[in-house]
This record gives sequence, C-alpha cells and structure tokens, in this order.
Amino acid sequence: MLYRVTGSAVLVRTCIACGAIDSGHTCLGTCREHRLELVAADEHAAAGARLEALDGQLRERRALAEQLARGAPSGDEWEALRVRARAALRVLAAPAAGAVVATWACDSCGRVEAPQECLGVCVRPVTPMVPASEHAGLLARAEATQQELERLAPLVRQLAWTRTKVGRENDAARALHTLAGDLAGACR
Ligand SMILES: [Zn+2]
Ligand SMILES: [Zn+2]
Repeated sequence: MLYRVTGSAVLVRTCIACGAIDSGHTCLGTCREHRLELVAADEHAAAGARLEALDGQLRERRALAEQLARGAPSGDEWEALRVRARAALRVLAAPAAGAVVATWACDSCGRVEAPQECLGVCVRPVTPMVPASEHAGLLARAEATQQELERLAPLVRQLAWTRTKVGRENDAARALHTLAGDLAGACR
C-alpha cells in the first residue's frame, strides 16, 4: 500500500518568513469558513514511507508465525528461518508526527488561509499540504502496526536466537510450533 499525496491534498502558498498561508482564491463574498488543520505533504509522505516499512516487517513476522504454526521446522529449515527472523527483528524508525498548522477554509470558494502580520519580505513557495486528520489516521495505523509487531516479537526473537542442542532440535521446534499456535489463536 502506497501513501501518496491524495486527492485531499491542497496547494497553498506558505510564507517562509512569517508563516502566512494563502491558497490565492478570490473569495466570492458569500464565504462560510471552517477551521482546517493541515500538515505539509512531504512530512506526511515521509511518515507514510516509514509506515510502509513497518507494514513490510509485520508481513514478514506474520509469515514466519504462520509457517511455524503450520508445523515445527525440520532440521534443514532452521538456518534459513533464523536468517529471516533476525532480519525481521531489525529496529525500524516510527513515523514522526508532522507539524500541524491551523487555517481557515472556505466552503464555497475553497480558499484556504492563515493570515499573519507580514514582515514585508515574504517569500511564498507553493506547498502541498494534507488535512491533519488524514495524517493522524496514518499515525494511528502505524501505532496499531507497532503493537502487532510487539506481539509477535517474542516468537521471532526465540526463532532467531534459540540455540538448538544436538539431538534436541525437535524439542525446540515443537516449542516454537506451540508458541506460534498460541499466538495465532490469540488473533482470532
Ligand atoms: Zn470563499
Ligand atoms: Zn510573510
């Protein structure tokens, strides 16, 4: 799943000196404004990229858990599974929350603005922004993904680092199979 700038993104001019925001619409004089909180689209996209990485790691941890739940690993499967488990334990950065700016948005003409006392030296590059609610939704999904990663961590750690004693591989395999089965049961 890709988190691109979606149809809900708005293009505004943001002053780098005073922070004033204006979409440059000409108001029709019949405006009804409501408060609209925005986050810069590049901050939203950066958070989305981190969420994708977390989602990818979660898919891999689930795949490992499902494989273990289906059956105890046999002797020659161990090493490949360990390598995958160690990779799936890599610590990934959590998405960072973008800065939220409050604006006023007009229902009739679509104008978005956040006026400031301008310093007279304004530089206003066009900045794509997304509603802060959309950004908050992404952060909430990342939180849920991290909780699920945490839940599967003990199993993946055990798979990655348990040393099997010669002649006792079956015990370790059965222990992992049982633990995976318990985790799978807890999902439902
Ligand atoms: Zn208007
Ligand atoms: Zn300015």
